[in-house]
Amino acid sequence: MLNIALFGPPGAGKGTQSEFLIHKYNLFYISTGDLLRKELAAETKLGMQAKDIIAQGGLVSDEIIVQIIEKTIKTNSDANGFLFDGFPRTYIQAYILEGLMIKLNSNLDALISIEVSEEESVKRLLNRAKTSGRSDDNETVIRNRLKEYHDKTLPVLNFYKEKGNYIAVNGMQTIPKVTEDIDKVFNDLLSKKLLNIVMFGHPGSGRGSLGKALAEKYKLEFVATGEMLEEEIEKGSETGKKIKNLYESGQLVPDEIVIPLIEKKIINSKNIRGFIFKGFPRTLVQSYILDGLLKKYDSYIAKIFEIKVDTLELIRRLDKRSKTDAVMPYDSSTEKIVKRLQEHEDKTIPVIEKYKETHDVTIIDGTPSFEEVLKNLSNEIEKSFKNLK
Ligand code: AMP
Repeated sequence: MLNIALFGPPGAGKGTQSEFLIHKYNLFYISTGDLLRKELAAETKLGMQAKDIIAQGGLVSDEIIVQIIEKTIKTNSDANGFLFDGFPRTYIQAYILEGLMIKLNSNLDALISIEVSEEESVKRLLNRAKTSGRSDDNETVIRNRLKEYHDKTLPVLNFYKEKGNYIAVNGMQTIPKVTEDIDKVFNDLLSKKLLNIVMFGHPGSGRGSLGKALAEKYKLEFVATGEMLEEEIEKGSETGKKIKNLYESGQLVPDEIVIPLIEKKIINSKNIRGFIFKGFPRTLVQSYILDGLLKKYDSYIAKIFEIKVDTLELIRRLDKRSKTDAVMPYDSSTEKIVKRLQEHEDKTIPVIEKYKETHDVTIIDGTPSFEEVLKNLSNEIEKSFKNLK
């Protein structure tokens, strides 16, 4: 999902640029000006309330704006993303937009400001007045609209400058050149979007080897907490020593140790297209932690897989592995194998159930050959990449 607000004084070219962007990126276009004009034309109660203010070039009340925007967002919540034009127009509306994004479980990726001088803006609007048929495109009202822009709308920029997602584009160039610059911004934003995947499945379902293969194929970073803990022990770091002591006394490694390791990995991974998590989250608590951790970096879980393998087949696989060199310390005896399967049932199945309420959990049959399961997973991942755009 990509949510962008186009910003700029009246006449900056927001409407013109929007046409190209909504088609190329398949976004839902929300122009508060257009929505208000529709309400006016239909002579609705909202339209009548806004009529005089629009005619004078003033700003319509936030109450009215919230009502029309909320209605539009609600009926299009499955959109690929929203392109806002003419909103937010006041500092207060910037907060409102943040709230609306929370409701959509999303966030505003950027406010793109098309910068043009005041003289240019007036010149363009007077020119447009000849053909637009808009009652507010005449000189007195234009001056008032620009004054409103100065007094009430410009402060919106500070909101996004502080937030760090304000991007300026030079609007004094030709239309195709401005389009090119905005398009470049869109591409940059999209390439920063991560495809984060969680692999669920019982021990022995193949989630580890499949996850690794997918990571390599799609330039994703494989995050396996078990392996990360082992690495720390091998490095002999302070954390490693702590982990070793816990392992030796048969205790679980607490989240306080696991989480910073994952966060370090998120911060240090460069030029990747996303993460594949395996063996994490294992508990409900960890699922909230992962959601929070990704949110901290403006990201989210885009895809969840549950690899299903029949219990007898799982036992067969784990038992077979226990007799090879690939044996893990935790599946060296029947007792340990049963305990791990039980742990999964008790702690991890509730996590999958929780995610089923909020995410699309894709169930993949893990019984066929490795290549076939990998192919089925790959098909799903490719679909998800498309949805990110
Ligand atoms: P526009 O088509 O974006 O130039 O908007 C035309 C007029 O609609 C503005 O001059 C305002 O009177 C009103 N309007 C549009 N969007 C907003 C908004 N977000 N907040 C308040 N008034 C708005």
